[in-house]
Parts: sequence; structure tokens; C-alpha cells
Amino acid sequence: MARALEPQRRLLAVYTGGTIGMRSEQGVLVPGSGLAAVLRSLPMFHDEEYARACGLPEDTLVLPPAIPDQRVIYTVLECQPLFDSSDMTITEWVQIAQTIERHYGQYDGFVVIHGTDTMAFAASVLSFVLENLQKTVILTGAQVPIHALWNDSRENLLGALLMAGQYVIPEVCLFFQNQLFRGNRVTKVDSRRFAAFCSPHLPPLAVMGTDVTINWELVRKARGKAQLVVHSSMERDVGLLRLYPGIPAALAMAGAGIVSGFDMTSEAALAKLSYVLGHPGLTPDDRKEEADAIREALVPSLACAAAHAGDLEVLQALGDLGSDLSLESFNGQTPLHAAARGGQPGAVTMLLRRGVDVDPRDEDGLSPLLLAVKGRHRGVIELLRAAGACLSLQELEDAGTELCRLAARADLEGLQSWWQAGADLSSPGYDGRSALLVAEAAGNLEVVTFLQNLKGGAGVQAPGPATL
Ligand code: ASP
Repeated sequence: MARALEPQRRLLAVYTGGTIGMRSEQGVLVPGSGLAAVLRSLPMFHDEEYARACGLPEDTLVLPPAIPDQRVIYTVLECQPLFDSSDMTITEWVQIAQTIERHYGQYDGFVVIHGTDTMAFAASVLSFVLENLQKTVILTGAQVPIHALWNDSRENLLGALLMAGQYVIPEVCLFFQNQLFRGNRVTKVDSRRFAAFCSPHLPPLAVMGTDVTINWELVRKARGKAQLVVHSSMERDVGLLRLYPGIPAALAMAGAGIVSGFDMTSEAALAKLSYVLGHPGLTPDDRKEEADAIREALVPSLACAAAHAGDLEVLQALGDLGSDLSLESFNGQTPLHAAARGGQPGAVTMLLRRGVDVDPRDEDGLSPLLLAVKGRHRGVIELLRAAGACLSLQELEDAGTELCRLAARADLEGLQSWWQAGADLSSPGYDGRSALLVAEAAGNLEVVTFLQNLKGGAGVQAPGPATL
């Protein structure tokens, strides 16, 4: 669906507050009422002559023509009270959705004027609350009030009105600094620059420059003619936990009901959780399933973190909760990979006792045994070999070059790790030379002695798992 071609397009602009209309009261900026009157006085926002000729009512404004034969007519609905958006919650955002629902039939599109501090939350919540949208809903606001000489209010509001007035983009969007973003993909990244928002994982739906470029392939397609549904029963009792390096796994215990947000913004993750848990269609059994799914989604990351840190208590607790400790995390690594990488024999033993697969492969084909070899974790290598882990044929074939590199650097521990893992230390490198030849040429006597002893005694081939 491209440009809407009707001669008049009617919008509802819901003014909730925010910096855009703020005025200074005793030196403090507070949300200011009477935005419609301010807009009426600005020719870029109102064509008085056209309005008079059409007999438009007092609260209704009309933009000057942007394209021939089409006018964008809009009514400003000012909320009581007006909000600084940092005081807004899901309750107010649901009320905005209900306002849109009440006026849905009368208008072709909606602009929500909102403070920037929580606009990304508002856009995310609205995107879940408003189901079956067939019309454009755009949130916008500003960093500097419209009364200031140098401000971003005029550009942002005019852009939002033009986008909603001229195009049918049936989803909840956010317009800021010439860009139209998907509402549940944005996050506020700056409180001083005019480019306050970004959409880290999705390009803008549209960009306004000398021309308007719309990425129609990204724009949601409105399906059928289903009626707008407003989901007002959002669960308020949800929270956000940001994972950070070194987070104690116990802090994020799966039993507490945490779900991984993947590439979602935190705003969207919170809104989605609130929507899912508040959904009236969920029976108690569904909710339990949801909670189980949430736990299952988080267990792999938690178990990997605990295994890597050797946190046996947490691993034990996860296992006792009935969690599957062989599940892969986002990169295909299992807790056994993590324990091997971290050189944690205790965690490896516990996982093996719980019967996890000893030779799983991650997304890059790496096994716990290879990770232990790379980390020179000899205790872990021993445990894995005893449990039957083997290097793959490919890994054994590729080992030659790595062995020569270790021999050249006199890395005895590295060579011993490979030997312990079952590699043939006489395998040639890429140039056909063996590790022994390389060590002799480099004069690395300790390595030469080690390799010669293997050759003369136990053999360059390490003993098999059964002998360890
Ligand atoms: N504190 C204001 C608000 O979010 C900031 C803004 O609008 O930019 O309402």
C-alpha cells in the first residue's frame, strides 16, 4: 500500500505531554497545555484560509498542501492531565490505546505526542496492545520545546503528521529526526542531541530527506479486515534484568521466571512479557507452560555461565529443578563446552555424571575436548578422554600445522595437551615437516626431548581413552 490518495486525510493527534509543549514555570519546565492554539499560530501547521473555507471546527487544524490535491486535516486531543513521560506507566499507555480505539472509525491515522524519556516503552507497549491495526499510528516528541527558537519539535511533529497523513503504514511507529522507526525496535540513546533514538536491529521503515524513502519490504502488511482489538489486561508485575559479564548465576535463577530477550530492545522485551503474561486467553495451565518455556529459554545460558565459572551449587540447583543440562545456548555451546573452556574439572565431572553427551559440537563444529586442548586444561582433557571423547578425523588431520606452531614456540604444555587428547604428534604440518623437525630446527631442546621420548617409548600417538 503506497501513498494514500484521498483528497482529505483526517488524523487524530493525541497530545499526552512531554517536552514538545513544555513551558518554564518558576524556572522549571512543566508540560504546557494549549498545544493546538500554538500550532494554529504557526503557518507550517495550519492553513487558516483553507480551514475557514471548509468551515473546520475550532479544535481542527489543516496543514498547508504538501502534495497537490491532498490535505491533511488533524484534530488535537489534549490529555488531562498532561504528563512528563517519566511519570507514565502501562496504565496510561493502555488509556492511549483505548483513546485510539474510541476514535478509530473517524480518523485515517493517529499521531501520539509523547515525552521522549519513555517513548520507546510507550511505542513497544502500544505495538502489543493494538492488534489488527489497519491504520498508521506514529509517536513523536522532541528534545527542545516548540516555543524555543532553535528546536526539533516543529520538524518532528510536522514529519509525523505528514507520514501518518500521506501513507498507510499499519503499525505502531516512532518518528524522530527524519526517520520513521518500527515502534518496538527503538531505544532512546541520547538526551541532548536531536537524534535521540536508534533502532539497533532493524533499519528505519522510512527516511525523510529531499524525498521520502519508504522501505516497503519492511513495512507490516495489514491482513484481512479484522477489527481492531485493544489488549488492556497487561501484566504490571514484570521486571527487567540486564545480563552483564560476571553476573552471579544465582541472581538470575531460572525459577524466578526470567525469559531471554534475544535481539529485542529492553523496552520491547518488557512490553512483550507484560502482554504475554496478561493475556486473558491464557488458562492457568497455559501460564504454567509459559513459565516452563521461560525457564527452558534461560537455562542454557545460566548453566553455561555456572559451568564456566565452576559454580557447582548453581549447576546442581538447575539440575534439581529438572532442567536439561545438555541444552545448547545461543552459539550452540552446551554447559560441557563451557566447563571445558573454563578448565573446570568439578563441573565436567558433575555434568558427565548427569549423563550429558560427551562429544557435542557447537555452531563452529568445536567439541569440549578441543576447547580443553586449546586452553591446555589437562585435568579436563583427562576426564573427557576417560568418558570416551575423541578428536574428530578432521581435527586430527588439522592438528599437524598447530603442533608445528607449538613446537616452534617451545610450547610444551600445548603439545602435551594435544598428545593427551589423542593427537598423533608425528602428523606433518602444511609444509610436510613434523613437530620434531621444527623443534630441532628452532633448537627447542625440551620439546625435542619430549617428542623423542614419545617416539622411542610410549609412541607419538597418545594412549586411547581406556588406558587413561
Ligand atoms: N522529561 C520529558 C518527558 O519525557 C523529556 C522529553 O519529553 O523529552 O516527558
